[in-house]
Amino acid sequence: MVEGQCAVTTKRGAHVDLVPLEEIPARLRATGHSVGKQRMVIVGAVEKMESAFTVDELAAAAPEVHVATVYRTLAVLEEIGAVRHVHLSHGPAVYEHSECSEVCHLVCEVCGRHVGVAPDVFDPVRERLATEHDFVLDGSHFAIVGRCGAHLRG
Ligand SMILES: [Zn+2]
Ligand SMILES: [Zn+2]
Repeated sequence: MVEGQCAVTTKRGAHVDLVPLEEIPARLRATGHSVGKQRMVIVGAVEKMESAFTVDELAAAAPEVHVATVYRTLAVLEEIGAVRHVHLSHGPAVYEHSECSEVCHLVCEVCGRHVGVAPDVFDPVRERLATEHDFVLDGSHFAIVGRCGAHLRG
């Protein structure tokens, strides 16, 4: 995926659980994808990420793998539901795996502070949008932008 472009390959919606880390190799095989050495190096690097990461950070964590292979593998991992990407700001998207995913993201447009919130925070909005506008809200793809308390009290 190229910076600035966005291909949503996974089914998004109210809430889709990501494939648990330990099941990624099995899921790759089950979906007909190769589990070659380079790909497993990348899967290992993904597993070590403790919070959302950019493709550049992943490439830096797997320096022995060509960056094009990192991009391709990340796209495959997203396709099988092992990771998903989120747009937190104007910069490149970040990727999350099952253990570092936060379903909805709040980002402060002043200081950049970022908070993950439980998906049910938006349930009332989700219900109204569905019944009144025939629209399924996806709160996980883009961050909700606003201002954190620090600026309101200043
Ligand atoms: Zn996107
Ligand atoms: Zn702030």
